Amino acid sequence: MSLRFDLKDILNGNLKVLDDLTSNVKQIQDDVLKEILTLNEDTEYLHRFLHGSSDKELFKTSVPFVTYEDVQPYLDRLAKGEPSKVLSALPITGFLLSSGTSGGKQKILPLNDKYLENMRFIYDLRSLIISKHVDGVEHGKGMMFLLLREESTSTKSSCFPATFATSSFFESKYVRDRPTYWYNSYTSPDEVFWCPDNKQSLYCHLLCGLVQRDDVVRIGAVFSPIVVRAITTLETYWRELCANIRSGQVSDWITDLSCRASVSTILKGPNPGLADLIQQICSHKSWQGIIRQLWPNAKYIEGVFTGQMAQYVPTLEFYSDKLPLISPTYASSETFFGINVNPLCKPQDVTYTFMPNIAFFEFLPVDKESNNDIVDLADVKLGCYYVPLVTTYSGLYRYKMDDILQVAGFHNKAPQFRFARRKNEVLSIQSEGTTEVELLKAVTNAKLVLESSDLMLMDFTSCADISTTSTPSHYVLYWELKAKNLDNTSTKVDDKVLVECCHVVEESLNASYRKERTKEGAIGALEIRVVQNGTFDALMEFFVSRGASVAQYKTPLSIKSTEALAVLESKVLARFFSEKSPPIDH
Ligand code: AMP
Repeated sequence: MSLRFDLKDILNGNLKVLDDLTSNVKQIQDDVLKEILTLNEDTEYLHRFLHGSSDKELFKTSVPFVTYEDVQPYLDRLAKGEPSKVLSALPITGFLLSSGTSGGKQKILPLNDKYLENMRFIYDLRSLIISKHVDGVEHGKGMMFLLLREESTSTKSSCFPATFATSSFFESKYVRDRPTYWYNSYTSPDEVFWCPDNKQSLYCHLLCGLVQRDDVVRIGAVFSPIVVRAITTLETYWRELCANIRSGQVSDWITDLSCRASVSTILKGPNPGLADLIQQICSHKSWQGIIRQLWPNAKYIEGVFTGQMAQYVPTLEFYSDKLPLISPTYASSETFFGINVNPLCKPQDVTYTFMPNIAFFEFLPVDKESNNDIVDLADVKLGCYYVPLVTTYSGLYRYKMDDILQVAGFHNKAPQFRFARRKNEVLSIQSEGTTEVELLKAVTNAKLVLESSDLMLMDFTSCADISTTSTPSHYVLYWELKAKNLDNTSTKVDDKVLVECCHVVEESLNASYRKERTKEGAIGALEIRVVQNGTFDALMEFFVSRGASVAQYKTPLSIKSTEALAVLESKVLARFFSEKSPPIDH
C-alpha cells in the first residue's frame, strides 16, 4: 500500500481516497511506522533506544512514551543550532509555536516539509468532503477571518524561524504555488491576511466581506473564538464600515499601506446603495440572524466547535439563525489527526475520523500508565477514553498529547473520536479538581438562566482566587455579557439573575466540589465578575503580545498568569456571589 495518494483524485472530486485510507488502517499504520523508523533509525534520539534497528516490536518495547518536558532538552539543542539529526532525518525547517492558550505554557515543536504536506492533504480532503455535503459551495468565496503572521526569529532560537502552523502553511509552496480552487478563493486579499495589526485586519476582512456580500458562501476562522471576535468588531464598527462603503474610502486609521491599497481596489469607489442596505440591516433592534441577513448566500460557518470551543455554539447560532456550524478538523502543532466526515452533523455529535497516513498513532487508556496498556489505532475499543501518543515524520516519538478522546464509532475500519477534553484540571483549590468538561457544563446550565433575561454570554474564563485578601479561596468566573436586544446597550444586569447563575454553576459542579464547598472554610462562595464589553478582545491582545498565535487563538478556560488576570481585573464592572451552598447530593 502506497503511503502517497494522488491529490489529483481529491481535486477531481473523487472520494475513493477516503475509502482506501479508512479501509486499510492497520496496513497503512504499519507502513507509516516502518517508514518513520527506517528514515530515523540513525537519529541520536532513536539510536539511544533502538541501536540502529527499525523493528516495530523493539520500538514498542524499548522507546518510552514521553511528555513535552522529556523532549524539550532535544528541542532546545536544535534551537541552539545542533543538526536536525538529533531528532529527525528529514530536515527541520523551523519551529511551530503552539497557541499557548489552551494548555497553559507555549511549546515549540519541530516543523518540516512533511507537516505542511500533511496539512495540504487534510485541507484538500476535508474540502472535498464538505463539497459533497453542501450544495453549491464551489460557487462563491469564503470570508475567512485568517490572521496570519510573518515568520520571526524566535527569542527561543536564533537558528530557526518560529512560526504558527496556519501562517507557515499559507507562506509555503503548498498554498502559494497552487491554482485557485473554490476553497482557496476568499473575499479578502492576501494583504489583509498578513496585516500585522489584528484590529485593522479584522476590520478590513469585514469591509471586503460586506462589499462582496452576495459572493460569500462560507464564513469562518481556524478556531471559533475569532468568529465571535469578528462579530463584536462588526457591532462596534458597522456605522464606520457603512461610511467607508458609501464614500469608497477606507478609514484613516487603517494605516497598514498594503492592506489599505488592496482593500481600496476591492471597494471600487462609492456605493451608497449598498451602504444604505447594510445600515438598514444593522439598525435592527435585535441582531438575531444578522449573519444570514448580511450574507444571504452563506451556507455554513466553519471553525472548531468541539472541546472548550463548544461554548461559542449558542452565540453563533443566535447571530446566524442556526446556519450549520462545521468543525472540519482535529489538529495541533504536533500533528494532524482527523477529519469530520459528516460535516453537517450537530456540533455536539462531531467526531474526527483519524487519517492513518498522517503519523503513527497509539493510544493510552485514560488512568493507565503502563506500556502494556497502549493500543494501536486499529485496536481501540468503542466507548473507551484514550490519550493519543504520536510518532511523527518531524521527530516526535511516542509523544503524549494532553487531550482525551473517546471512541464514538468507525468509518470503515478507521476509528472516529469525539474530543472529550484536555487532560489537565482547569480549576482546583482543595482536593476537588474541576475539569474542562465540568466547568463548561456548569456554565452551560447557568446560561439557561441568563437567557431568560435577554442576556448572552459572549465569552468567559475563570481562576481559582487563592489570594490572601479573599478568604476562603473560591472560584471566580469572568463573564462578558451582551444584550440580545441592542436597544439595551447598557447591558442592564439583574442582580438576582447573576446570583442565581452563581448558584447554578455551583450546583452543577462535581460532588467533591460541592462537598468541599459545604465544609467550613474549605472553598468559599463562587463569584461571577461581570466585565466590560471588549475585555476578551483585550485579553486576546495581551496573549498575542506575549507570543500566542492570533490565528490559532483560543480563550483559555482558566487563567493563572497574574498579568493576564490584571487585564481582566481592570475591567470588572460588578461582582456577584452565590448566596447558598450547593446541595451535596442531587
Ligand atoms: P495548537 O497546538 O496551539 O494548535 O493547539 C492544539 C490543541 O487545540 C489540541 O491539542 C486540542 O487541545 C485543541 N484542538 C485542536 N483541534 C480541536 C478540535 N477539533 N476540537 C477540540 N479541540 C481541538
